[in-house]
Amino acid sequence: MSEAEIISPGRTDGRAIDQLRPIRFKNHIAPHATGSTLIEWGDTRVICGVTIEDSVPRWMKEQRVEGGWITAEYSMLPYSTLSRKQRDSTRGKIDGRSTEIQRLIGRSLRAAVDLKKLGSRTVWIDCDVLQADGGTRTASITGAYVALGLAIKRLMAEVKIKESPIINSIAAVSVGIVDGEPRLDLCYVEDAAAEVDMNLVMTGKGEFIELQGTGEEATFSEEQLVAMLSHGRKGISELLKLQEAALEAC
Ligand code: UDP
Repeated sequence: MSEAEIISPGRTDGRAIDQLRPIRFKNHIAPHATGSTLIEWGDTRVICGVTIEDSVPRWMKEQRVEGGWITAEYSMLPYSTLSRKQRDSTRGKIDGRSTEIQRLIGRSLRAAVDLKKLGSRTVWIDCDVLQADGGTRTASITGAYVALGLAIKRLMAEVKIKESPIINSIAAVSVGIVDGEPRLDLCYVEDAAAEVDMNLVMTGKGEFIELQGTGEEATFSEEQLVAMLSHGRKGISELLKLQEAALEAC
C-alpha cells in the first residue's frame, strides 16, 4: 500500500491522511453575477460570485495606474455556523477574521490575473459561506477562481475583451498536524483539535502565492513541514483538475 492510501484511524470521516473531502462545483448559481459557482467541499459550502464593473477605484485614477483591479469580500451567513452568527451589518463592524480572509482572497486572485489586460475594470469577488465546516477561506479562493473564469469567458463571448487576462490557475487547501499526524484538508473537528494549522495558496506552475502556518500552542519540525507541503501539493494538483473540469463543463 502506498502512502497515498494510508487510511488514518484518527480521521472521523475515514479519509486517508492525504485525501481531500469530496468537491463539487455548481456553476451559475447567481444569474445576475457575471460569473458564479457554489463550491461544495465536504460539508463546507461557499457561494462565489464575480461582478465586473467598467470602472476602477479612485486611487488608480489619481495615481494613473494602468489596467484594472480585483477586490474581494467574504462573509459567513448567519446560519452557516452551528450557533447563529450575527451579520456584520447588524453588529456595525466587520470582524477581524473576515477582513483578514477577504484580503487573502483578493491577493490570491490578483496573482491569477494580469491586471493590465483586464482593462479599466474592477472585479468584485463575493464569497458568502452557506455552511462552514473548516476550510472556508480555501474553498472561497478555489471557488472564486472558477467564478472568475466563468466571468472572463462571458466577457470574451460578449467581445468585451479579446484576450483572457488569466495568467495563472490558482487553488488553495489547508493542511495541518492533528494527533502528531500531518493531514490534508482539515474539517472543523480536526481544525479545532489541530496542533498546527496551515493554509496554502498555489499556482498551477507549482509556485506559492501564500503560506499561512501556525502552531497552536505547539511547534512543528522541518520534517513535518515538508510532509504538510507534500500533502498540500497533492491536494492543489487535484483541485486544479476539478476547477478545469468545472470550467470546461460550460
Ligand atoms: N467557525 C465558526 N464560527 C466563526 C469562525 C469559524 O463556526 O465565527 C468555524 C467554521 O467551521 C470554520 C472553522 O471554524 O470553517 C475554522 O475557522 P478558521 O478561522 O480556521 O477559517 P477557515 O478554516 O474556515 O478558513
